[in-house]
Amino acid sequence: MKTHKKNQTSGHHKDLSIYIHIPFCEIICPYCDFNKYSKVDDLIPNFIQSLISEIQRNSKRFADSKIVSISLGGGTPSYINNKDLMAIFNSLKNNYFIDNKFEFSIEVNPADINNPRLELYEKIGINRVSVGGQSFNKNILSKLGRNHDVETLKKSLDLLSSSYINNINLDLIFGVPGQTLAQWEESIKMFLDYSFPHLSTYLLTFEPKTKFFRDLNLKKIIEPKENIIIEMFNLTIELLNNNNYHQYEISNWAQKGSESIHNLRYWNSNNYLGFGPGASSLINGTRMKNISSLKKYIYLSKNIDNQNELYSEVTTITEEEKMIEYIMLNLRMHIGINHKDFEKIFNKIFISIFKNLINELNNNLLIKSNLKTTSLTNKGKLVSDYIFTKFAEEIDS
Ligand code: SF4
Repeated sequence: MKTHKKNQTSGHHKDLSIYIHIPFCEIICPYCDFNKYSKVDDLIPNFIQSLISEIQRNSKRFADSKIVSISLGGGTPSYINNKDLMAIFNSLKNNYFIDNKFEFSIEVNPADINNPRLELYEKIGINRVSVGGQSFNKNILSKLGRNHDVETLKKSLDLLSSSYINNINLDLIFGVPGQTLAQWEESIKMFLDYSFPHLSTYLLTFEPKTKFFRDLNLKKIIEPKENIIIEMFNLTIELLNNNNYHQYEISNWAQKGSESIHNLRYWNSNNYLGFGPGASSLINGTRMKNISSLKKYIYLSKNIDNQNELYSEVTTITEEEKMIEYIMLNLRMHIGINHKDFEKIFNKIFISIFKNLINELNNNLLIKSNLKTTSLTNKGKLVSDYIFTKFAEEIDS
């Protein structure tokens, strides 16, 4: 492996992250709006070849970069077999300069976790596993259309607990139609029993083009009432704060020192490369998005020399877009907006240009703003999209 030696660290290499999109799932969950495919296993071998072509094609452009994090997401990255995962890893290590202390994470489905798999993860240096558990309640799991039951989830977490991997995240979903506060509490308490260092709590949203969205319009399911969502959110804060987890981002909780390096790099708008269908890259303020269609991706990635041909969108972010993105990403994080940093980047004084809006949001107890920082209150976190829209309107006006 091209590892990073101490005497080479002095600024010659720019930090870079890599995201790899594995778009396969065993079945499609009714709430999911990711770029994913099921029942197309025959396409996997060609996909792996095309992915490796893309990994290799980009390596020269980023020869002076040091990879500080790699994240395998999807879809379900644990769906592919060990041989294919090994091939992807070999291609990364042979083509990129990887930092010794890089974060290497994978999203897994509980049903895919077994000892041979964990042994491979150890062999290739995966040091963070994110488990798509979603709930410890059997009725909620079946409502969510998950392909695993509670026992399978517990078994996978037990295997992970006794493995070499310490950095484990669990995903849980709240705001599921029909979900009670007690069911949500049960799931969080089960997570706490495992003492894993990281939890992601996602509020279910009804995205267009999903089955849940159609069911909602057909009145087959009912959206949970706002008061129950608020109660679930407040309970999450109480239980996790009492157990030494801090909410470093709206949906993410960590024990001190276990924050996701890869995700923090996204939220800080650092450079990253995305490989695979629909994956996005951000390089020095330009965003590139790969073509989403799996078949087109497979065909194109194998047959092109120039990476640009794989992009469906290339956007240079304007100053206004950069500002709204900065405000949004920083407000999502616990530390909020640092006024000095804002001034350094935009050459503008945050509390002056948003004076009226800050007053209004402050008066409504949605933000906390002092001379140094502005961040969301717990009440504000619940209506973060509304607050981001307000800032965007202010910037556009
Ligand atoms: S397993 Fe994950 S990516 Fe696949 S359909 Fe379900 S939610 Fe979407």
